[in-house]
Amino acid sequence: MSAVLKVAVDGAHPYAISIGADLLDDGVLLAATIRGRHALIVSDSNVAPLYADRVQAALQAVRPDLTIARLVIPPGEHEKTLQRFGEVLDALAGLSATRDAAVIALGGGVIGDLAGFAGACWMRGIDVVQIPTTLLAMVDSSVGGKTAVDLPAGKNLVGAFHPPRAVIADTSVLHTLPDRELRAGLAEVVKYGVTAVSLDPADAGFLDWLEAHAEALLAREPAITAEAIARCCAFKAAVVGRDLLEHGDRALLNFGHTFGHAIEVEQGYAGTHGGGLNHGEAVAVGMVLAMRLSAALGLAPASAGDRLQRLLQRLELPTSIPEGLAPDALLTRMRLDKKADAAGIRFILADGAGRARVVPGVEEATVLAVLAG
Ligand code: ADP
Ligand code: ZN
Repeated sequence: MSAVLKVAVDGAHPYAISIGADLLDDGVLLAATIRGRHALIVSDSNVAPLYADRVQAALQAVRPDLTIARLVIPPGEHEKTLQRFGEVLDALAGLSATRDAAVIALGGGVIGDLAGFAGACWMRGIDVVQIPTTLLAMVDSSVGGKTAVDLPAGKNLVGAFHPPRAVIADTSVLHTLPDRELRAGLAEVVKYGVTAVSLDPADAGFLDWLEAHAEALLAREPAITAEAIARCCAFKAAVVGRDLLEHGDRALLNFGHTFGHAIEVEQGYAGTHGGGLNHGEAVAVGMVLAMRLSAALGLAPASAGDRLQRLLQRLELPTSIPEGLAPDALLTRMRLDKKADAAGIRFILADGAGRARVVPGVEEATVLAVLAG
């Protein structure tokens, strides 16, 4: 087995992120995260047939006394509902799960959010072990303890901050991840590059490193992929350690997301299967727009937008607003977003050299000019 990379997340409830190949089969690593006698594996119907047996067998071999149940739900963001949340709780009840039980979230961000939220609520909170299987979940959603489900009124409207007991990122599972999902994760990886200096000055050169390794990342080269994940997790750990509840610089992780969300909402969250952009793709476009806005406001050189666009294009990500989305419609979406106030809209802006900051009250006329290209 190749080397396992470790990232520590500090805070009131510290935990470790383990990153490496074939960790799903590491029964000792898995068992070390389980305190009690009950575990519920929650997964989706794409991921479970590929990986759930391996997790269960590895765990059971080290902990034959452990009672393990499994709940498999259909894939997709539209399953991140209160109804599915109730099903996870019912499964815990069916298992007679006690206060020391564990929920094992085996899947992408949808499973992590849903199972994580159920774990946060069962008996007011039990251990959640995150086993992310998408690149996006490995570098972003599985770390930091945000959990939630969607309501018809909007995404992630009900949730809790509930840090996991452990995160186990098995890089081998990325081999079965569809190309488009991999690239969506790479968009979030680039986000760390653009904001690197502000997140963790110790890793200021991450954007340069990404430019040097773009093709290797796209080719899922194992060592390069593992290094990228570990560096992103270290960024996220640094920020979450300082700002669990997002009162301060955790917001920098939303670089590109104000524009990106407007695109996602305006497309009705059509996503990969509805002919629209998925989250990572929308963030890729949003990051280019945010960098152009930064330049328009004199915070970054014009070349910064071009540089970012080139990197995203090498990663085969979209960099311009999809046809049919009108600039003023996108602006209206952003105005309705919680990041707007009377003076204007709040953005995360960057200087093109790794520094980012929150800028409130950006004038709508400037935003509109950027949207109109
Ligand atoms: P995200 O992490 O981007 O929020 P999802 O949880 O929606 O994503 O997962 C994206 C899609 O990829 C889903 O259809 C899911 O079933 C599938 N998927 C997740 N991980 C893997 C994997 N390792 N191999 C194959 N398909 C996967
Ligand atoms: Zn995101």
